[in-house]
Amino acid sequence: MTFHRLDYDIHPHEKYFQTTLCNRIERAGVGIHSGTNSVVHLSPAPANSGIRFKVGSTEFAASHENVLHTDRATCIGVDGVYLSTVEHILSALNGLNVTNALIEVQGSELPILDGSAGPWVEAIMESGICQYEITSKLIRLAETVVLKRGDSYLVATPAEEFSLTCITHFDHPMLGTQVETVYDDAETYRTQIAPARTFGFQEEVEKLLSQGLALGGNFDNALIVYQDRFSSDLRVRNECLHHKILDLFGDLSLAGGRIIASITAIRPGHKINTEFAGLLAKNALPSISEFEMPLDREQEVTDTQGVLHAGY
Ligand SMILES: [Zn+2]
Repeated sequence: MTFHRLDYDIHPHEKYFQTTLCNRIERAGVGIHSGTNSVVHLSPAPANSGIRFKVGSTEFAASHENVLHTDRATCIGVDGVYLSTVEHILSALNGLNVTNALIEVQGSELPILDGSAGPWVEAIMESGICQYEITSKLIRLAETVVLKRGDSYLVATPAEEFSLTCITHFDHPMLGTQVETVYDDAETYRTQIAPARTFGFQEEVEKLLSQGLALGGNFDNALIVYQDRFSSDLRVRNECLHHKILDLFGDLSLAGGRIIASITAIRPGHKINTEFAGLLAKNALPSISEFEMPLDREQEVTDTQGVLHAGY
């Protein structure tokens, strides 16, 4: 592979080119649910390989097809391998448009770090993002796709660009109803979405602790919502809503391609999110197009780190 830095006079469709990490990086820490430590290596991966996990000698795709359960976190695996709480690292990769990477994990749960996707974003920035001159697999729709589960809804309508409108409603004096729309913009993701921490309501957290759950949770990696206050100052406006958007970026990436659609999520959660990722994959138009380049050409990689840093 050859690496060269891009002069960012970008063709309108180059933003859909595949990317990977430039270097291998390591992070370690405790899992919020299990309380056990794990070590993660994020590495560059070939074009068209997508985002993959490796645990021991078992490697598998970050795909909706490999979701095992979604109780309080998104857990995936194959062949008896189980990996919990994958949504934040997947969110960071998706938010920064990294389309190929290998995530090797020693352990059964991804580290919670500070409860947000911020540390993963920093790790990716430290590694640098390199670009392949090959178009990403795009998920476009011919018609509207709707999923309802209880009082949660996810709707995707055909569009020329990605957008995500998220509506959360909690019968709670500190939250109530909140709405936000985000677009395909890595800088907004990095500054407004990635820093939003995992949150829990006081009663819920006490119950989890009494059940021996959330063993790695503490005031440094979660925002606790009390009846009349938050456990710490908010990092971003509407932090809880923004964390729901963060989780959506992670869960929807399990569709296995870059989503080009207008999405509305009402009261999202891991279960409906991951199921919807499968529905998007199933309803995706055959990948075209006039922008698509032949895959047998020599795969060149360019360093877009300068690009990402340019706006920072
Ligand atoms: Zn989360």
